[in-house]
Amino acid sequence: MGRGFVEYTHAVSGRKDSVLFSAYFYYQLSDGAKLSVFETPAWCYKCKSFITAEEIPTLESLAAEIEKLQAGDPELAKFWSYVLDGAPIEKRIEQLRIRCGWRQSRRSPPRCLECGETDIVATPSAGDSEFKHPETGETLLVSGYGWTDLLPFIVEFTPEGERIGEQTFDDWEFDIIR
Ligand SMILES: [Zn+2]
Repeated sequence: MGRGFVEYTHAVSGRKDSVLFSAYFYYQLSDGAKLSVFETPAWCYKCKSFITAEEIPTLESLAAEIEKLQAGDPELAKFWSYVLDGAPIEKRIEQLRIRCGWRQSRRSPPRCLECGETDIVATPSAGDSEFKHPETGETLLVSGYGWTDLLPFIVEFTPEGERIGEQTFDDWEFDIIR
């Protein structure tokens, strides 16, 4: 149980920057449910660095996923039964409906998960593509991605993506809806 990361290398200077993700970033919903935050690397114009930002799915993509599950694909049912520890596929559909409900009421555009600013631009997360630095125009290469051994990092956010606070691993229960 580590943390995912992506690393960028500046083509000219060789300087490296990396962005760390966390599987334990979640939205605290008003009914008490905890919904995982989808993350993407991004450049934040306020932090002036590459950071982890929210990725907000479209309602259409969530509806399409529900439809696919309802169509009864046996491979998909097998996969989710494994992930959900034997629970029926309806459990996954229910989880997606919770995300749909959150998405419908979400107002703010995606935020920087460090500072909460919305002045961000998503950057590549995997593969060996190169891209232009959003601010300086310098060429960067996606030079690495994978997992680190770092301890889990648990942070609670409002449904609008504002940071509430960090949690310690000791008094944590693992009931994040993904
Ligand atoms: Zn920021």
